[in-house]
Amino acid sequence: MARVALVTGGTRGIGRACSEALKKAGYKVAASYAGNDAAAESFKRETGIPVYKFDVGDFNACKEAVAGIEKEQGPIEVLVNNAGITRDATLHKMTVEQWSAVIRTNLDGIFNMTRLVIEGMRSRNFGRVISISSINGQKGQFGQANYSAAKAGILGFTRAVAQENAAKGITVNAIAPGYIGTEMVRAVPEDVLKTKIIPQIPVGRLGEPEEIGRCVVFLAADDAGFITGSTLTVNGGQYITA
Ligand code: NDP
Repeated sequence: MARVALVTGGTRGIGRACSEALKKAGYKVAASYAGNDAAAESFKRETGIPVYKFDVGDFNACKEAVAGIEKEQGPIEVLVNNAGITRDATLHKMTVEQWSAVIRTNLDGIFNMTRLVIEGMRSRNFGRVISISSINGQKGQFGQANYSAAKAGILGFTRAVAQENAAKGITVNAIAPGYIGTEMVRAVPEDVLKTKIIPQIPVGRLGEPEEIGRCVVFLAADDAGFITGSTLTVNGGQYITA
């Protein structure tokens, strides 16, 4: 029986690439999204992957959604915590709303979703939790105190939860992408990309969403059971850390 994988924010960008890569690898995939119905509908039509609309920052909404997904698809054995947002401002100009929105979606969302699947994974003695952090959680980024804090928080969460669940056949890992050529990054003016961003990347190009999808499939595999608590950096050499 195919394992069930849920990708949060799995209808667009990096999440879409993860959903498609998991489907290609034989998983029964479900993808969630927040509000962009048009993107979710075309994703569903093009991939045949079912979509579920709920806010990862709302515990009760997640609880209801997880119950519904498990009823329709089966127990979630692979959780990809990908949903994320930015609300950039330097700290001296950052509003409480900007801070809270990012922490709520990018960090509370990881707690909500992982908390809701971990008991089932423990009872079945198998699970894969893969959370998408960021290079900016590792090195910090000007104008992103909220985002850098949330993404660094994911790394601590991953290490703690990995230890708690290692004996239960569950691995918990993070992926820290650098600049990936999603719609958002490709919308940056061509000259800014060429003169300011690409020169910081030793590999000399943006990453592709599919390159993150490959990492997710690698960490999700049954034979990746000895990899847990780790952070896989995928940034073209932009920030190299132990
Ligand atoms: P996109 O903005 O392209 O897609 C984000 C996805 O998350 C969408 O499906 C969106 O739903 C969903 N989403 C947003 N907020 C919520 C929420 N509250 N509840 C449920 N779903 C939500 O993002 P990217 O593909 O660029 O980024 C994906 C992840 O990768 C993020 O965690 C991001 O921080 C991280 N990342 C991205 C990098 C990049 O270069 N792009 C680099 C490093 C990390 P909807 O379509 O309905 O809006």
